[in-house]
Amino acid sequence: MLAIRGVTLAYDDTVVVHDLDLDAADGEVLCLLGPSGCGKSTLLRAIAGLEPLQAGTIHLDDRDLAGLRPDQREVGLMFQEHALFPHRSVAENVGFGPRVHGLAPDAVGERVREALELVGLAGTEHRGVDQLSGGERQRVALARAIAPRPRLLMLDEPLGSLDRALQTRLLAELPEVLAELGTTVVYVTHDQDEALALADRVAVMRAGRIEQQATPDRLWRTPRTSFVAGFLGLDQQLPVRVDTAAVHTPLGSLARRAVSAAEGTVREGATRAVLLPEAIRLLDDDEALPADHLAVTGTVLRRRFRGDHLQVTVRVTGSTDHDTPLDLRALSLRDAAPPDAVVRLAIDPAGVHLLAPDPRP
Ligand code: ADP
Repeated sequence: MLAIRGVTLAYDDTVVVHDLDLDAADGEVLCLLGPSGCGKSTLLRAIAGLEPLQAGTIHLDDRDLAGLRPDQREVGLMFQEHALFPHRSVAENVGFGPRVHGLAPDAVGERVREALELVGLAGTEHRGVDQLSGGERQRVALARAIAPRPRLLMLDEPLGSLDRALQTRLLAELPEVLAELGTTVVYVTHDQDEALALADRVAVMRAGRIEQQATPDRLWRTPRTSFVAGFLGLDQQLPVRVDTAAVHTPLGSLARRAVSAAEGTVREGATRAVLLPEAIRLLDDDEALPADHLAVTGTVLRRRFRGDHLQVTVRVTGSTDHDTPLDLRALSLRDAAPPDAVVRLAIDPAGVHLLAPDPRP
């Protein structure tokens, strides 16, 4: 439905988006995830018709957007600093788009009602936006982006300016609102939790390029590069050496066939592997090591409360060249050994994942 091909974008002579291809299917929620400054907003602005293309094409429903003004593109864009008209009512703000499109007052009123209903603000038409809380203003901004019924809705860090509690609440509500809307959505964020929770598909951006696209589940289990893994918070990574039979890690060797691997990783030689937190488990005193697992001994350095789990940090004994402690998750205090305890760990090869070499070291 949205097809971006070979798009290059620049400010003066500085290229910030390089020859980029990206698609979104009808009704899909696509998250663009990447660090600040990687070009996410610039790309959205180009789709909206607010930045010129240096090269490439953007099609929406087989319509080439080149030459169409922003208001002719059927694209809605909501920014982080939601830029509502102050001193105006909710209805005036939400009805702005439909009015500009020339709808009759009755029809505008209907669109406003419908959009407010969708964001859970039914009946607030006559309130001034200055009298609303931050979270309510954010919803009005969302309603305003929805009201013209765009073919493509683009949300640029829509939760970015809210406090944590409000973010969590809106994040819980958003999937339902977006699903009910049924519109194709491009959602920009630098927050991996937000992207993983909302997206049908995530495209991870780095310095103006897309480094990997996948469903949230696949992205988490099979990140392709060290950058993608690190950006998702998977920062337990090990230098490894691979041969046909085994993966040699500083903690010991694992059977090659039992280890998962990213597309494009080395068949033989040096690369990096990510250790998913759920792959490391404390063994009970007399518990046998499960097949194919790697046994590691260590000393507990500390344990930290992390809300839904305890993070146990273990210094490994006898590792060849790895002195970074390992973090593992325990679900209860009973499962988490105290500091200074000597423990045995089992590393599940299914949670060890070989990465492809960094495309841009
Ligand atoms: P993101 O949305 O991922 O944070 P942006 O698209 O805002 O990234 O920015 C990409 C790059 O372009 C950054 O290096 C930023 O400094 C630069 N940039 C953004 N807007 C402008 C502008 N109006 N003029 C010049 N450079 C800009």
